[in-house]
Amino acid sequence: MRNRLLALLLAGATTAAAPAAAQDLRAAIRADMPDLMTLYRDLHAHPELSMQETRSAARMAEEARRAGFTVTTGVGRTGVVAVMQNGPGPVLLLRADMDALPVEEQTGLPFASHVRGTSLTGVESGVMHACGHDTHMTTWVATARRMAAMRSQWSGTLVMIAQPGEEIGAGAKAMLDDGLYTRFPHPTHAIAFHDSASLPAGVIGYSPGPALANVDSVDIDVRGVGGHGAYPHTTRDPIVLASRIVTTLQTLVSRELNPLDSAVVTVGSFHAGTKHNIISDDARLQLTVRSFTPEVRRQLLDGISRIARGEALAAGVPEDRMPVVTVREAEFTPATVNSEGLAERTAALFRTEFGAARVTRTPPVMGGEDFSRYHLADPRVESMIFWVGGVPQARWDATHGDPAQLPSLHSAFWAPDADAVISTATEAMVVAAMGVLGRHA
Ligand SMILES: [Zn+2]
Ligand SMILES: [Zn+2]
Repeated sequence: MRNRLLALLLAGATTAAAPAAAQDLRAAIRADMPDLMTLYRDLHAHPELSMQETRSAARMAEEARRAGFTVTTGVGRTGVVAVMQNGPGPVLLLRADMDALPVEEQTGLPFASHVRGTSLTGVESGVMHACGHDTHMTTWVATARRMAAMRSQWSGTLVMIAQPGEEIGAGAKAMLDDGLYTRFPHPTHAIAFHDSASLPAGVIGYSPGPALANVDSVDIDVRGVGGHGAYPHTTRDPIVLASRIVTTLQTLVSRELNPLDSAVVTVGSFHAGTKHNIISDDARLQLTVRSFTPEVRRQLLDGISRIARGEALAAGVPEDRMPVVTVREAEFTPATVNSEGLAERTAALFRTEFGAARVTRTPPVMGGEDFSRYHLADPRVESMIFWVGGVPQARWDATHGDPAQLPSLHSAFWAPDADAVISTATEAMVVAAMGVLGRHA
């Protein structure tokens, strides 16, 4: 590597902590940070809902072009594909997601979002980068710049993608369906990161193997027989029935699953009725269902249908008014399983780069990520997503990292230490990319 000897000498003279190349890289990122933070604040103040990321995509495309990439826009609606071919070697896909959430920002930051938007399903709300995808986009730009500047040190092809619609589980699929693996170089490896609200700023977390869960959305339309609130004997009350279904669903995880399997069944929405003295005709439940394996997923979905029908039978609902259970297959997000070899190799590079204290093995979480689809579309693609902590150190110290006292991802109060996330994640992305593409001769 260029200046290796000089950097080695300097490293020996100043600090033994980081290897020489790390110091070069860190200095280059630090010099870029004022510009990157300006970009970050701009993205944060202009969040866009899923599959509507036109402004963000235009900015990503412009930055990638300026860094020397060949850019294609409109892939999977608003997705961006930026390719840099740089000799023979592996093809590495680096992914950032672009979408924000229907959340009204409460952080009080000077660059807080005041944007309002309407989702694809027609719901109007505030819009906020409450999942930190603005840090992902900024890191993507920073990584593109660094990899372009370091192109004499690697060989292969970089396929950098800015993906829409992660939050609704639609964007990765949309890009794949639009020819991501056929119109562009087919990746051998895929890497992404996500900011974390459960790690201190600048700490890296990784999980070899299962990392994020299967996510299913299920609707239950509980149908009864409505009537006057004073004459319940002439009705089949769907609110009482739906309440029983909610309660019995709790036994799926606690009584039916193997206790060593992980799963969640949450009823997030329960709507019924119009007035005090009317027994309604129906009640609607909306569930999120999480699991890690196809077998547990099947067991839960089958169990939900069985319980809904069983409770309706017990309540004496006529056969033609049985509950209608709908699994929203189009919104399914499959579990993310990191390739163990790539995850362990990359984690070893991170330890060398950052020191072992800043790299921690994290347990899988029940959140979901459609990053999983890049591996599932071709299981030969080695893939890995890792976490970069964003909790400001002072907040972390004051709360001892107690999750009950810290805002989670998707919270209206989530305000990561963006400088720490972006600088750490950029360094980590470059190190991970060089681990795949670097000239090792
Ligand atoms: Zn999210
Ligand atoms: Zn996210």
